[in-house]
Parts: sequence; C-alpha cells; structure tokens
Amino acid sequence: MAHASCPNGHGMWNGDGKPVVWAFRVGFFRDYMRTHPDCRLEEEPEYLQMYDYVDDVPGEDLDCWYCDECKGLVVFVDIARYDFKRMESLPDGKPEDFDRWEEYIALRDREFEDFQEFYEGKNPIEAIEQYDFTYHYRLSLDKKTIYALDKEDKIVFGYFRSNYTEFSPDTEIRFVKGEDSASYRPYEWAKGKMEVCVHPGQYVHTKDGREIIIDSVIEDGKRYRGRDINQKEISEVDIQHTDVLRVADEIC
Ligand SMILES: [Zn+2]
Repeated sequence: MAHASCPNGHGMWNGDGKPVVWAFRVGFFRDYMRTHPDCRLEEEPEYLQMYDYVDDVPGEDLDCWYCDECKGLVVFVDIARYDFKRMESLPDGKPEDFDRWEEYIALRDREFEDFQEFYEGKNPIEAIEQYDFTYHYRLSLDKKTIYALDKEDKIVFGYFRSNYTEFSPDTEIRFVKGEDSASYRPYEWAKGKMEVCVHPGQYVHTKDGREIIIDSVIEDGKRYRGRDINQKEISEVDIQHTDVLRVADEIC
C-alpha cells in the first residue's frame, strides 16, 4: 500500500484499490505472441496473469493511478513518473499520425477483475480483441497525449502530460514523525541498470537541495550547465551527473 499525490495535488491511497488502473500496451502482447504463440492466460505455469507478462519488463510494467477528484492520471514506469491532466476540450478530428500511436487497454481495479474472468484460457491478444471494452486508449509518439476512444472509434476524452519526472536510483524518501524517522529508497533496484537522463530545459533537483534549470549538456550523461533558480543573482553553474537526484519538466 502506498500514497501518492495526483497531478493536481490531491492525495491518493491505493489500499482501497480505488486509484488502481491496470494498463497494458497492446503492441507488447502482439510482439510477445510472435515468439510465444501457444501462451495462455492462467494456464502456463510461468505466466499466469496479464500483469505477470510485463513484470519487470522495462517500459511495460505500468503502475497507473487515477484520481477520483479531478480524473488526473499518474503513471509510474521504471524510474519515471508521468503526470497527466484531463483535457477540458478535445481537438476536431484525429491527429495526422494517429494510426501510429501506441494502443493501450486500461481498466480500473474492479473492471479488471471481470476481464480476468473473461480471459481465462485465452491468449492475451484473443482476450484483448474479444473483450467488450468501453474504451480503448492511444498514446502519442512523444508520450504527451492520451485519447480514449469509444466503440465507434470516436475520441471521447483525452489527457495531456502536465509533468514528467525521473528519479535517481539514489533517491531516498524520509518519513519523520516526532522523534521517529524511517527512510526507504524506492528506486534502488535500478542501480546499475538505469540512470536519469538530463536534457536542456528540464529542472534538476540536486542531492544538496538546489534547483537548477539546465541550459546545456557539456558532456552527455556526465556534466551539465544551468542556472540555480533559487539564487537572487542567477548565475551559471556546472553540475555533475552524480549530483542529480531527480529531473522534471516542471517545478513541483
Ligand atoms: Zn486529483
């Protein structure tokens, strides 16, 4: 069980299952079926449930949360967090390259239980193609836009990315209550496997508490130049990659 804040700052707690959304990229299962044509959900001893197929697969193991208050979405993937806010208005028609957008299915906790009953004994693609989903989802190639499509393939609602954050494997979260304190490192598993990527225009939070807007990359993955946004007199600073605690598109 865990807590997280939504893109608009509302508190979410997954202990009651309410914010939990099961989301999967359809293309992953299409590719998987090419190499494992005989796989079946809940039959193969190695792979039992839909989420077991993506377990620990980089980029595919989505931890997706939905806020009941503002309908915002937060998606945790590997060392990254994507914040999406619901669009107030929709574009006329579909974007030009819409057919190339990634297709996703997504179900809230209780709906997913119905889907699990339905898919028993089927292969993942049969299950996805035969199930009567209320919506299908498409994610843009730059991963900044999500549209939900109804059964007639009409866009019915959408999301835009409001922030993107990547966390260093060194990130430590500390809890302090009175004299008690505890800490944990939620991304420690990524050490040696993944590292944050720093790009110009992003905000870097350093291990010593500074907030730097990055202007240029001096040496890719090693050294960056930017400005400390909390200093009165903003001047250029150089930081090392090892100083980086997290990177975000926006300051939170
Ligand atoms: Zn919210």
